[in-house]
Amino acid sequence: RWGPGHIGLIGKHQHLESDNELQWKAPFYFIQGADPQFGLMKAWSIGNCDHGGDDWKPEIKLTEQAVEAINQLNPKPKFFVLCGDLIHGMPGTQWREAQERDLKNTLKNVDPDIPLVFVSGNHDLGNTPTPETIDDYCKHWGDDYFSFWVGGVFFLVLNSQLYFDSTKCPELKQTQDEWLNGQLAVAEQRNCKHAIVFQHIPLFLQNPDEDHDYFNFEKSVRYEVMEMFCKAGIKAVFSGHYHRNARGFYKGLEMVVSSAIGCQLGEDTHGLRVVVVTAEKIVHKYLSLNELSSHGIGKELMDLIKQN
Ligand SMILES: [Zn+2]
Repeated sequence: RWGPGHIGLIGKHQHLESDNELQWKAPFYFIQGADPQFGLMKAWSIGNCDHGGDDWKPEIKLTEQAVEAINQLNPKPKFFVLCGDLIHGMPGTQWREAQERDLKNTLKNVDPDIPLVFVSGNHDLGNTPTPETIDDYCKHWGDDYFSFWVGGVFFLVLNSQLYFDSTKCPELKQTQDEWLNGQLAVAEQRNCKHAIVFQHIPLFLQNPDEDHDYFNFEKSVRYEVMEMFCKAGIKAVFSGHYHRNARGFYKGLEMVVSSAIGCQLGEDTHGLRVVVVTAEKIVHKYLSLNELSSHGIGKELMDLIKQN
């Protein structure tokens, strides 16, 4: 079994690939969610993002709805990846522990046949992570970066906070960089059908040349990473953090930004992204929780999965 089953057992020190998962067999799909961020809806509504998240019942409800919708899907998704900002409370703040507990209790109901994959966000690690905050995250949710194979497709999970601000943990940034170089060499050499990256902060939102702000990578770092990904043959990067949907391309690399399960900062609905991987392409669609609950992944995507 390659996956984490439940709360964060997947990690960089494990060799997850059974030989089985190295080979391409048939189209499959997975579900990507982002930013359940327990506590942000209340904090945002009272205009106090730093200290305001003392209630997260709405996020519990939404995450329950997401879990129920996913559990009903047939065929089952290969995994459910949560792309960071699991909770709103930053390291060291008051409601963090309770938010973590409540999120774990909600996610415990995910069908045990659908592995959960966790990605660390800025709220999980702090905007300026330290070895202690990263260690604390890993104890709760598993490693902050790792890779795994599913059906001939190579997946990489990165700690994007190390690119955002590693001033308090330069060694950890270097260790991830070295590990990533090795992994990208694997992606380049191995005959995988596709290679896909998950990280919380998007490289960019729409245009690879857009200005740097809170929601994307600093430009010089962005270009360095994009070039590295392209060279290794990475096809797509899936992120959250923006609380809105967005999308763009850099050469052959697609940047996909998914809105939140929790608090919306734009016009999108609370939702999840369905990602279908076929031999030729990666096709994805963001669906509202209501849509996914009532109609599943829809005929169009289902036809792609059944196509051979
Ligand atoms: Zn974030």
